[in-house]
Amino acid sequence: MKYEACIGLETHVMQKTRTKMFCGCKHEYGAEPNTNVCPVCLGYPGALPVLNATAIELCCKAGLLLGCEINPHSKWDRKNYFYPDMSKNYQITQADRPLCLGGKIVTEVNGELKTFTLERIHQEENAAKNTHASSGSLIDYNRAGTALMEIVSNPCMHSADDAFAYIQALKLIMEYGGISDCDLEKGHMRSDVNVSVRPVGQEKLGAKVEIKNMNSPSFIVEAINYEIARQIEVIENGGKVIQETRGYDSDRSETFSQRTKEDAHDYRYFPEPDLLPVEISAAQIQKWKSELPELPVQRRERYVKELGLPDYDAKVLTAEKHISDFFDAACKLTKQYKLVSNYMMGKVASLVTEKSISVVESKLTPETLAQVADLVSGGTIGSSAANELIEILFTSGGDPKVIVEAKGMAQVNDDSALEKWAEEAIAGNAKAVADYKAGNPASVNALMGYVMKQSKGKANPPAVIAMLKKKLDS
Ligand code: ZN
Ligand code: MN
Repeated sequence: MKYEACIGLETHVMQKTRTKMFCGCKHEYGAEPNTNVCPVCLGYPGALPVLNATAIELCCKAGLLLGCEINPHSKWDRKNYFYPDMSKNYQITQADRPLCLGGKIVTEVNGELKTFTLERIHQEENAAKNTHASSGSLIDYNRAGTALMEIVSNPCMHSADDAFAYIQALKLIMEYGGISDCDLEKGHMRSDVNVSVRPVGQEKLGAKVEIKNMNSPSFIVEAINYEIARQIEVIENGGKVIQETRGYDSDRSETFSQRTKEDAHDYRYFPEPDLLPVEISAAQIQKWKSELPELPVQRRERYVKELGLPDYDAKVLTAEKHISDFFDAACKLTKQYKLVSNYMMGKVASLVTEKSISVVESKLTPETLAQVADLVSGGTIGSSAANELIEILFTSGGDPKVIVEAKGMAQVNDDSALEKWAEEAIAGNAKAVADYKAGNPASVNALMGYVMKQSKGKANPPAVIAMLKKKLDS
């Protein structure tokens, strides 16, 4: 029998807010544990929550970027559970009336354009961070109560590749949209992955397994592949897939049973009595719409249409926001867009790999890269000198013109020097000269190679060709 996998993702994204969701405590990564806390986020009885307006704005903007409908009347609910990462013993979230409804992500999967639909986005608060050591468990409440959105997809993905592309696209949109830094190391983006299989042709979904709290896209891919194979095997052997929560063991690349799945009613959701419903006017939604930043797809289109770049360049440059931002900044200072693009994808990218630091952390700036492009297009330096110069700027910084001067990197355009090299080339390469005179214009390249060697790469190639032709044709 043939089987089809159905995969849905519930992705938690931490918003870029200055303070927490329901109190004024700072939202700050890496602070001394349990220093950004107060009676509200520690769950003291009687402490009252106050809504963070920026979080609501960011959640709605995320929704607008993803094509969701903004719910004009949303409300808050308590999700009750007992665990020390939430000392109130409930999480404030949105059950039946979330902030955003519907939406979609359109992205390429192995060259094919696919649309993945969303069910909803709701706003909630984050739990504290637990660290389990052999001596005991540690809890850091700095993260408790920070703003967290949950983006829920429909079970519309059918392979690990689909899920990978979905996560990458979602991450880019959140970064470009200024919603979240999506730093996976800092846990800014974590997904619960629901996987089920069913015989091809069957409409009803199979029993789903939920793999909780994964932040690494490559582990998500491994876990999905493992889970699809496991469930098919269970069914093929005459068994039944049990609805449950499973963990992922990255050392063994397999999932393992954690607990049989609780149902929503186990959480005893009920309306949060300490917070008013959120009313959002059409005018407010219109205003947020007008403030939305450019998304990666739009930027890619702009690079092709306005800067005249090939689509390949545009795709590579927009794949990471900080690279695209750097490129944009450089292109405000020079008109040599294609040269800047070549350096970003070529020399700069290889330096990033070689030195293991990002272009933003390097000493190269959009200003200095733009100047390199202008020095090349103006004929001051040649392409090998440009690469050398970029490397110096990347590691040590400095003023491109001063470095060119100090290191003698400038191209030789001077006629008398070129003439001397051309004469030497002609005198020393009788065969190439004879070929040229016999009607083979390409043999001038052999002579040019000789000049470039003699000049240690500093002669300006078009000027060399012109000089050689002048001599040979006279
Ligand atoms: Zn607080
Ligand atoms: Mn959640």
